[in-house]
Amino acid sequence: MYHLVRRLMSTASKSTSQSLQKVAFFSARSYEKDYFNRFNDKSPQDKKLEFDYYSEELTARTARLVHDAGTACAFVNDKLDEACLKTLKDNGVQLLALRSAGFSNVDLKAAEKHEIKVVRVPAYSPYAVAEHAMALLLTLNRHTHKAYNRTKEGNFKLSGLMGFDMHGKTMGIVGGGRIGQCLASICKGFGMKLFYYDIVEMKEMAEFGAKKVELDELLKESDVVSLHCPLNEKTKHLMNKETLEKMKSTAILINTGRGPLVDTKAVVEALKNEKLGGLGLDVVEGEEEIFFKDHYDDVIKNDELNMLLTFPNVIVTGHQAFFTQEAMEAIATNTIGNILEIKETGKCKNEVKLDEGKEKK
Ligand code: NAD
Repeated sequence: MYHLVRRLMSTASKSTSQSLQKVAFFSARSYEKDYFNRFNDKSPQDKKLEFDYYSEELTARTARLVHDAGTACAFVNDKLDEACLKTLKDNGVQLLALRSAGFSNVDLKAAEKHEIKVVRVPAYSPYAVAEHAMALLLTLNRHTHKAYNRTKEGNFKLSGLMGFDMHGKTMGIVGGGRIGQCLASICKGFGMKLFYYDIVEMKEMAEFGAKKVELDELLKESDVVSLHCPLNEKTKHLMNKETLEKMKSTAILINTGRGPLVDTKAVVEALKNEKLGGLGLDVVEGEEEIFFKDHYDDVIKNDELNMLLTFPNVIVTGHQAFFTQEAMEAIATNTIGNILEIKETGKCKNEVKLDEGKEKK
């Protein structure tokens, strides 16, 4: 009897670890498959994962597609709510491997209830995001997007293309973490004056000459405000009617953090009333329904986004700030590493805990 139980137990644990090795990979794009296949192929035979790629987003409806995988792999706009996590659990999923740093799209309480571990890639390339924030700023300031179109049509006039020197202007960074620090280092190179606001003192920011100030002072004094804090209950609509009013009417706001950091209705009003100099967005409220797809033949039903796209001083990119070769490499290797770590030890340094979600999601 004892031996039978031992044998059954060992079979059970084997099938558990084998199934973790099978990965239902959602929101899969061809560029991701290339990177994941390449780095998976480099793993020793017994550490190779088996990927089932689905182009669909992971939602309560598509979670039903999972049949023999113990791991589900998801990206930023997958909707990992209670219903989705329950269906994943019912279909045998024990591990949710996020290919992102942010996890505000995961109901961590539900994940805990359904005993699904959640792992993420906390940092892949802070440089990628900070450099994109600067790219948005430089484009808005120097109108290179307009110049590109003009010169293609043989128009070399300069009217409407005037910018300002970045040198000597004040950059206000909200969130002095990994990305905020990279941006500070870039801005230092431009000769900008630097302020930052964070809920904790980030000593590293001093290296770049960034002074810690309260949010109100940062908004009042900055020529550019760039958002790099996580999205949580405290930071949702951090930029709203009142906070936008505190900014200079000529200031540029950049958001590469998460869409809901900015109250879109309020920012549209500020732009309409010429109370904001420019807006660069890589993330937008409600982007889940729209981003990462081509809507050439569709009617986009996000009124605020449609409105934003009409302003000459607004640039929107489709959540591409992370999208560099180096970041893709880091996302693939770290995600594969996270899954193998959980499979082999049951633990992982990149596991997301419920408490962490409450504190700093
Ligand atoms: P990080 O954890 O290193 O830094 C975040 C900083 O924000 C921390 O210093 C933290 O103390 C601070 N913070 C927390 N709450 C705050 C608040 N209420 N007000 C001000 N500061 C607060 O994170 P990171 O790697 O720098 O990433 C920042 C954010 O960038 C992520 O949460 C994610 O949402 C976003 N991101 C976007 C992309 C993209 O492609 N657009 C890619 C990666 C990350």
